[in-house]
Amino acid sequence: MIIRSSYSNAPVWRDIQVRAILPMQLQFLNEMAHNLWWVWNGKAKNIFKKIDPEGWDKSQQNPVVLLQNLTTERIGEILNDPDFLQEANEAYRVFKDYMSKPYDTTRPSVAYFSMEYGLTNVLKTYSGGLGILAGDYLKEASDSSVDITGVGFLYRFGYFSQSLSIDGQQIANFEAQNFGNLPISQVMDETNNPLILEVPFHDKIVYCNVWKVAIGRINLYLMDTDIDLNDEFYRSITYQLYGGDWENRMKQEYLLGVGGILLLKRLGIKKEVYHLNEGHAALINAQRLCDFVKDEKLSFNEALEMVRASSLYTVHTPVPAGHDYFDEPLIAKYMGKLVEEIGIPWQQFMDLGRENPGSHEKFSMSVFALNTTQESNGVSELHEKVSREMFQPVWKGYFPEELHVGHVTNGVHLPTWSTASMKAFYEKHFDPTFYDDESNLNIWEKIYDVSDDELWELRMHLKRKLIEHIRTEFQHGWLKNQATPSRIVSILEQLNPNALLIGFARRFATYKRAYLLFTDLDRLSKIVNDPKRPVQFIFAGKAHPADGAGQALIKHIVEISRRPEFLGKIIFLENYDMRLAKRLIAGVDLWLNTPIRLQEASGTSGQKATINGVLNLSVMDGWWYEGYREGAGWAVPAEKVYENQTFQDELDAFTIYSMLENEIIPLYYSYNSNGYSHEWVQYIKKSIAQIAPRFTTKRMLDEYYDKFYFKLANRSKELRVNDYAKAKEIVAWKENMASNWDEIEVVKLDFNPNQYLDIRDNKNIVYGEVVIDKKNMIGDLGVECVMVDFDPIRNKAEFIEKYEFELVKTEGSLLYFQTKEALNNPGTHQYALRIFPKNPDLPHRMDFAYVRWI
Ligand SMILES: *Cc1c(COP(=O)(O)O)cnc(C)c1O
Repeated sequence: MIIRSSYSNAPVWRDIQVRAILPMQLQFLNEMAHNLWWVWNGKAKNIFKKIDPEGWDKSQQNPVVLLQNLTTERIGEILNDPDFLQEANEAYRVFKDYMSKPYDTTRPSVAYFSMEYGLTNVLKTYSGGLGILAGDYLKEASDSSVDITGVGFLYRFGYFSQSLSIDGQQIANFEAQNFGNLPISQVMDETNNPLILEVPFHDKIVYCNVWKVAIGRINLYLMDTDIDLNDEFYRSITYQLYGGDWENRMKQEYLLGVGGILLLKRLGIKKEVYHLNEGHAALINAQRLCDFVKDEKLSFNEALEMVRASSLYTVHTPVPAGHDYFDEPLIAKYMGKLVEEIGIPWQQFMDLGRENPGSHEKFSMSVFALNTTQESNGVSELHEKVSREMFQPVWKGYFPEELHVGHVTNGVHLPTWSTASMKAFYEKHFDPTFYDDESNLNIWEKIYDVSDDELWELRMHLKRKLIEHIRTEFQHGWLKNQATPSRIVSILEQLNPNALLIGFARRFATYKRAYLLFTDLDRLSKIVNDPKRPVQFIFAGKAHPADGAGQALIKHIVEISRRPEFLGKIIFLENYDMRLAKRLIAGVDLWLNTPIRLQEASGTSGQKATINGVLNLSVMDGWWYEGYREGAGWAVPAEKVYENQTFQDELDAFTIYSMLENEIIPLYYSYNSNGYSHEWVQYIKKSIAQIAPRFTTKRMLDEYYDKFYFKLANRSKELRVNDYAKAKEIVAWKENMASNWDEIEVVKLDFNPNQYLDIRDNKNIVYGEVVIDKKNMIGDLGVECVMVDFDPIRNKAEFIEKYEFELVKTEGSLLYFQTKEALNNPGTHQYALRIFPKNPDLPHRMDFAYVRWI
């Protein structure tokens, strides 16, 4: 036997998680860490930071990780620090007070569905503006004490984090999230085991874990399919936000819609209003139709009446190409079974997703959403107009101007997006409780009483913080991709809080035109290289991994930023996320936005800038079209001058250069004896007083209630009482009208406005008479004259005005209409008469859009 000097096999290392166990006295910290209230409450954040300043930064400001990693020694120190304990207990008391406030029962309850939620950078469930809007909205719902529940996904990999290669190529890193490290909790079932939601797909059951995110008083439930019970094909549904192919998108939208409704049912949550945040959530209405048919024994039409009466669809996408369209075989594969249960023929379902029923068009989620919701809105005043044009083909008898599509302009959650020092400033000068009355412009007027010195000192503080952030956070990454250390030193040396800092950060979608500024590099070089009036541009943003053009643009900007004349003058910061966004939108002087006109539905980063005393320079699009005030920012004119986008780009670029050269830079550098610009500070004050309060989520939430939620909750309640009596009555009426529609006969048409022109009181008066035989129809009809300007070359009619005829007599099935109307719009127009169904129980014409032109 040979005895070896050493003999061992290799160990298999298995995970063991050693987590700090907090003693009872500190358990409240865990409770606070698991409610996102800390995200927008500085006192709570400060507590966590104080526990372990280094751990706080290392954990990327994640209190759950921070607490898990506390050493026994540190816990002991905390327990022996009465000052800290008092402060922490005080924060906890404020939190508990906040939590104990009940929901406002005078406002209807709402279920809210969204593919993404941007709540904190710790929780990678968002990619950009849409998600952050949804996250801000739920925070506001909590602050406003309304009863809203959110539904979405917990992504294993979330959206990617971005780094750059040495030549400026974007590298997308998908890192798995460890759910145990997140400020969320798993939902348990009645036996205290993880609740597993079962969602029937066409071929098998898909199982989901369910996670709860507590957002103050609001709960957000997230589904997660990454569990052993599922095969890889279904496990991957919630791997990535906006990842995978069309089939994966189909699976996701099926799960969000159908699974989302089943989830609420499983949790016993019933709401009065269902809100689809973007078309991704449209399929909730398929499951709701099924539930009304099966559980409430309603006919399909009655079910549709109920679903419509209680739902709102918010569209965020201004261009048709941005909407989801699915091929019929794909939609049939996933929806076929559910449609059978709903009990309508397959083609009838397909037609609910088509602009032209009966055609072979793909299934459009937005058209399905429009057809199954009573109310619908865009996200700014301009976007309402754009959406009406876009959606007009769904209601062929009507013009964009006549549609029911409305708008609620997006806003931002003030306590999330104003920095700690800005909040302290507001609380000092307005009132610590002013958040409850945030939309009150009178409060904001008090900004005019603040001394210029104080406001400017605050602005300088925020600028310095940004520069400090860049120095500490990016130096390390730059060592990897800036090639030479000397280059990094030059950049850091150039960074100057006294320079005019201009920020541009957003997704690198082409329509945002990040390239615009680089149209004339010589001119740009002159702007940034004036030694007396230095200007620096800071860029950030991610391009979708499948968007080659967006990535090329990032590379282009990075290359320019490395030229000697731009080094340290144009800076690209990697990995734009909520944390960087907050530093940037508060730390620059001017926020730049250059979208192609009518393609920015709203935009919100400029709103975030405003509440921190940063001014906007933006194309008149999205929210800025409403927000801009003279002397409180700058607007690139709204009119599109050229059809050719390249020419338009050039014009816009030159407009921006000259605004910078002639107005903005001189204004910023018109220093007073205290070394800053009195005029610039007046711009800031006006921007805070007149712009900021109009674009908060408080205003936005109130508007959703006033314009839509109350209306929907009331109407659906009316339709529901007495075993859906009203719903059934309306459907019986609609069915009768629909089946008799083609039988309508025009018995007499005596209307020729040109013959009957009459000058009386300086008005054009027209007379006319129409007699209609409505045959077996039970309901009423209306007749109206619609005036347009018709362009035969484009075959397009522009709506001018309309007026209704008076019903003067009814004889059996004969209806006698007359008009005697003054026309208001001089000129040569075209007209046609339109018959339409009339019923005061309809919410609007588009609810039953039968039209007969005569
Ligand atoms: C606010 C925000 C956005 C949206 O900004 P837009 O102006 O709408 O482009 C995108 N990403 C992050 C990280 C944000 O904070």
